[in-house]
Amino acid sequence: MDCIFCKIVSGEFGTEFVTQNEHAVAFKDINPQAKVHILVVPRDHTSNVSELDSADSLLGLFELIREVAKEQTDGQFRLQFNTGSREGQSVFHTHAHVLSAQSN
Ligand code: AMP
Ligand code: ZN
Repeated sequence: MDCIFCKIVSGEFGTEFVTQNEHAVAFKDINPQAKVHILVVPRDHTSNVSELDSADSLLGLFELIREVAKEQTDGQFRLQFNTGSREGQSVFHTHAHVLSAQSN
């Protein structure tokens, strides 16, 4: 499968991770839409959040989202999962956008 986020997760592009855990990785969006714009990405491939049905993956993903929000923002942030091309999804590997106007 030719999935850019699978390649990032596997380290193929040498992308620097802001943080990571067993289930997910976090890295800066290449085209930031806010002062803080970090993507939090499950290691295992699913196409979008509605396919993410493993309790372990969901917990691991949300633990990393909370860590990113706590460490990288002032505590005020937006959390967005674009799902489907009509709704703005352009990379079809599940990811959360963490966006904030204020870094920590
Ligand atoms: P979405 O439009 O919700 O699917 O979000 C995909 C996001 O991935 C966009 O905000 C892109 O800027 C970002 N993106 C695409 N390629 C890369 C990359 N190589 N490294 C970091 N972010 C990327
Ligand atoms: Zn993938």
